[in-house]
Amino acid sequence: MTIYNLGSINIDHVYRLTALPRAGETISSQGYALGLGGKGANQSVAAARAGAQVQHLGAMGAGDGWVLDKLAAAGAGTGAIARLEGVATGHAIILVDGGGENSIILHGGANHALPPTLLERDLAGIGPGDILMLQNETNLQAEAAARAHAAGARVIYSAAPFEIEPLRAVLPHVTILAVNEVEARDTFAAFGEDLPVEGMLITRGAEGAEYRDLRSGQVWHQPAFKVQAVDTTGAGDCFAGWFAAGLSRNEDPQTALRHASAAAAIQVTRKGAGDAMPDRAEVMAFLKERG
Ligand code: ATP
Repeated sequence: MTIYNLGSINIDHVYRLTALPRAGETISSQGYALGLGGKGANQSVAAARAGAQVQHLGAMGAGDGWVLDKLAAAGAGTGAIARLEGVATGHAIILVDGGGENSIILHGGANHALPPTLLERDLAGIGPGDILMLQNETNLQAEAAARAHAAGARVIYSAAPFEIEPLRAVLPHVTILAVNEVEARDTFAAFGEDLPVEGMLITRGAEGAEYRDLRSGQVWHQPAFKVQAVDTTGAGDCFAGWFAAGLSRNEDPQTALRHASAAAAIQVTRKGAGDAMPDRAEVMAFLKERG
């Protein structure tokens, strides 16, 4: 069982400032950190660290080899990541002031130039038992979802950043829709509560998460573990990656939710997104400690 993840790869440049710059102003940063981000890469790292077999499908510029090294070190397959000449790797310039307020410039770059060969060549082997994960930060979402669905694989779509038209395009092919509370509200407002999917994973930050089987009406709840959060960036991706890893191992929804909740609780106690994802040993130790 393989998790194929067609998703964004971003480099996060995080600058700590005393105050956010005003128009025309030049300011020096108090600190700088470089990290792996992008919803796709975050989810691949999370699922791979959870122990799943993960194949990341995506695109990057020709440089930035350290990004591939990080994905590979987490255990994700990187052979299906296209390297594009003359296109920048997706990146985010993140400015954080002393009060934690931020301003972000996002440049999608290669994430919006995924070549169709990724589907023809690298998704050719997908079949029943496999999972395709998708988020709304790349091109080719609907095409990939249609192909995976037709091959009998489960499709898990994170409707983030939330946009109605991309969601409308993938929805007929989605098995599980993964959303946070705000995205869930926007989804219901746009499409009603009777969605054409098997299940919904809804995360509610420190309030916890739930999985709804829309066919049977059964709902599984999972409270969040109480921790001292320092950076919640990527918490949703951590949760989705761990939940998908659980499903790929045929875990029941409650077990997958519990593991994902523990993983996300650990992740929010660390700075960073992709780099902050815990591995299986850390999650098991955390659960043992919490009883
Ligand atoms: P992001 O956009 O920051 O990646 P999100 O909005 O997609 O996050 P959330 O619903 O905020 O996702 O969080 C996902 C999961 O992470 C929650 O269901 C919970 O299990 C865990 N989590 C988030 N914040 C906290 C917190 N403060 N304490 C413990 N767990 C948390």
